[in-house]
Amino acid sequence: MAGGGEGKKGEGMVPLALLLKRELSNERVERPDVLHGQASQVRKGEDFTLVKIDCQRVPGDGFSTFSAFALFDGHNGSQAAIYSKENLLNNILRAIPSNLSREEWLAALPRALVAGFVRTDKDFIDKAHFSGTTVTLVIIDGLVVTVASVGDSRCILESAEGSVYYLSADHRLESNEEEVERVIASGGQVGRLNSGGGVEIGPLRCWPGGLCLSRSIGDLDVGEFIVPIPHVKQVKLSNAGGRLIISSDGVWDALTAEMAIKCSRGLPADAAASQIVKEAVQLMGLRDDTTCIVVDVLPPEKLTPPVPPSKRQGMGIFKFMFRRKSCETSTHSDRELSEADLVEEIFEDGSAKLAQRLSSYHQSHNTFKLFACAICQVGMKPGEGISVNSTSSKHRRLRPWDGPLLCKSCQVKKEAMEGKRHS
Ligand SMILES: [Zn+2]
Repeated sequence: MAGGGEGKKGEGMVPLALLLKRELSNERVERPDVLHGQASQVRKGEDFTLVKIDCQRVPGDGFSTFSAFALFDGHNGSQAAIYSKENLLNNILRAIPSNLSREEWLAALPRALVAGFVRTDKDFIDKAHFSGTTVTLVIIDGLVVTVASVGDSRCILESAEGSVYYLSADHRLESNEEEVERVIASGGQVGRLNSGGGVEIGPLRCWPGGLCLSRSIGDLDVGEFIVPIPHVKQVKLSNAGGRLIISSDGVWDALTAEMAIKCSRGLPADAAASQIVKEAVQLMGLRDDTTCIVVDVLPPEKLTPPVPPSKRQGMGIFKFMFRRKSCETSTHSDRELSEADLVEEIFEDGSAKLAQRLSSYHQSHNTFKLFACAICQVGMKPGEGISVNSTSSKHRRLRPWDGPLLCKSCQVKKEAMEGKRHS
């Protein structure tokens, strides 16, 4: 990588090799416009948003930009939401090695998201605050959209062709059997509130603590099996782009994805966000903080939100399976539904197993630092650290192929998340 040796003359200039590489990978050609808007109605004041456009993968390089949008829905106070808003993105970016190409950076992102979420949770809990927060974080780089989520603030995508995709997971015990099983296997108890006389009320909760969510950042007073390990999904939009809607449960308790899309169709992003919040509050009343971020990813020079070609076709088509190139033949006679129109799934992993999440990228790439903790990035001498694949914290001699390493403190955190620490 260039850098360090550049004189004053070269300031602001991009090395030719980088330019050539960029042209070859069509990076500039596929860089769409990203327009956003947000709206909120406040009840408790525990929803927070983060909007950062023009972040740089390569510091000082104006072409290596990406955008980040996040929604934090706090509970039991707002400290966890505020702390995550201020620290999460930095913790993620610190976990990505420098000097990566765009493709390598995007491939490293899922592992870095896991590291950043866990580190943020660990650092926050060290401060002994009791609040917690959901997080839905969206990173947009060109047409590649990466979503990391804990909790129940959903992110949906409507592609330009009118299909709807869920890009986040719902970590609500009530609606996620797999998570209920995981929590119980880790030593938690799952049940409803007992109103006396054996009558059970309300949604499924996890005890101790009584939280309805199975994943969050913070929440010192609930079991440590309520983990901050995010569900991560990475997709590539077609050249025609699409619309993302990120909302807190204040919206999703009132509106289905279809309703949110329908009521805001054709509106610019800021008006769309306002309309979605308004619609939700009209239907259910302002029972909770109700926040919405709308992001339109548009082909350059197309400054209106994409409207699906046929309204009938656009409504109610939910894609739980992503289309793969070549498996779909178009039935739209009036419009060419070419390969370029399809949303491609690049990556998805929602496992709560840290070893799996940190190792998947490790096998084939050597871009991550070998002798640094995979979570907190603290440097370690050769021989220090514990393999993330190790089943006990007993010290043993490690070889680089034993997998990513954790420092002692992050190893303790890992075991706690797996229910191996009872205190
Ligand atoms: Zn560590």
